[in-house]
Amino acid sequence: MRAVTWHGKRDVRVDNVPDPTIQDPTDAIIEVTSTNICGSDLHLYEVLGPFMNVGDILGHEPMGIVREVGSAVSTLAVGDRIVVPFQISCGSCFMCDQSLYTQCETTQVRETGMGAALFGYSELYGSVPGGQAQYLRVPHADFTHIKVPEGPSDERFVYLSDVLPTAWQAVQYAGVPEGGSLTVLGLGPIGDMAARIGAHLGYRVIGVDRVPERLERARARGIETVDLRAHGGQVGDVVRELTDGRGTDSVVDAVGMEAHGSPVAKAAQQVAGLLPDALAKPFMEKAGVDRLDAVYSAVDIVRRGGTISLSGVYGGAADPMPMMTMFDKQIQLRMGQANVKKWVDDIMPLLTDDDPLGVDDFATHTLPLTQAPHAYEIFQKKQDGAVKVILRP
Ligand code: NAD
Ligand code: ZN
Ligand code: ZN
Repeated sequence: MRAVTWHGKRDVRVDNVPDPTIQDPTDAIIEVTSTNICGSDLHLYEVLGPFMNVGDILGHEPMGIVREVGSAVSTLAVGDRIVVPFQISCGSCFMCDQSLYTQCETTQVRETGMGAALFGYSELYGSVPGGQAQYLRVPHADFTHIKVPEGPSDERFVYLSDVLPTAWQAVQYAGVPEGGSLTVLGLGPIGDMAARIGAHLGYRVIGVDRVPERLERARARGIETVDLRAHGGQVGDVVRELTDGRGTDSVVDAVGMEAHGSPVAKAAQQVAGLLPDALAKPFMEKAGVDRLDAVYSAVDIVRRGGTISLSGVYGGAADPMPMMTMFDKQIQLRMGQANVKKWVDDIMPLLTDDDPLGVDDFATHTLPLTQAPHAYEIFQKKQDGAVKVILRP
């Protein structure tokens, strides 16, 4: 079969690889009909190379048709149409019983000390072949699937694998009071969807990004926007001006670690992260660096006593937190990968012909799988108005 494989920094290819087979009686094999590229794939494309092996199959947002089931699979049959959550979970361990599917103790990757195994996400998460391919082996298939009805196109359901539950959890974790206000940092697929969900739930939403097409896309759906470029990366003052000087009740950080320019800029950001705000800003100015990691903006923007919800992925000690400011402002902080199946019952009623969240035309590009290298490039460089790309094997 054909599959999108990792070959090095900014080097993905479409290779011919062996078809997957049933390895455990709890497996199923699906024929993939649609499979998305995610901001998380860009971390593998850019900075997480050390955890990758040449030839690893990428992708964790697939859906398709069940073609084969192992002898122990009882809830799926050949021909079923399913979306595959990005995490693999058993559905019956201590953590799964609490709907903490990203912490599943059955699939937990003990070698690296991480949580539940993920599709297509490097050695860190269990080296499980990913779903940007013609076929996918789904371990623990009885629980690791979301059945969807025949009829509507793949676009209606494919975001259940990641974007919808991630954005939904981001907004839930943000703990916005009724009728309250929410800043969403980053208007990539996750932030864009989180902004839509926040607005749908009746919150005042302010979206922040620096890509004109992404700001425009949010505005077209009635979201207030702030252009990062117009404010030297420091949006705190702008958001305070819009909110009686306080900042918003909650902030969703849907950015995570982006590539941060020069090593000097990165080092300056790290030092600034150790300083209280009042010292960090002049320090950054002196260093000639105009942007901090989004999480620092989140700490700046949230009102005192408010909540920050991180869905953007950060890595290790490279991102020291401004603890003094966080403690003084009495900020609540919640984070983590989305426990996909926890949110499906809340989201499914919104995936109707009325399409309140605009999923049907959420994708900006739908391309054949063979064009994956081009698709990764335009998505990373934010070219051609690319926000969400679906690949069709
Ligand atoms: P993306 O890379 O397309 O979106 C990031 C956006 O942030 C871009 O539009 C970029 O212009 C903008 N941005 C960069 N710096 C900014 C700043 N300082 N302030 C405001 N905006 C800024 O990716 P995506 O697919 O939307 O994913 C976003 C993040 O969510 C990634 O880190 C991804 O790994 C993470 N993610 C987490 C989960 C989860 O389960 N928690 C699931 C999926 C994705
Ligand atoms: Zn994803
Ligand atoms: Zn489990």
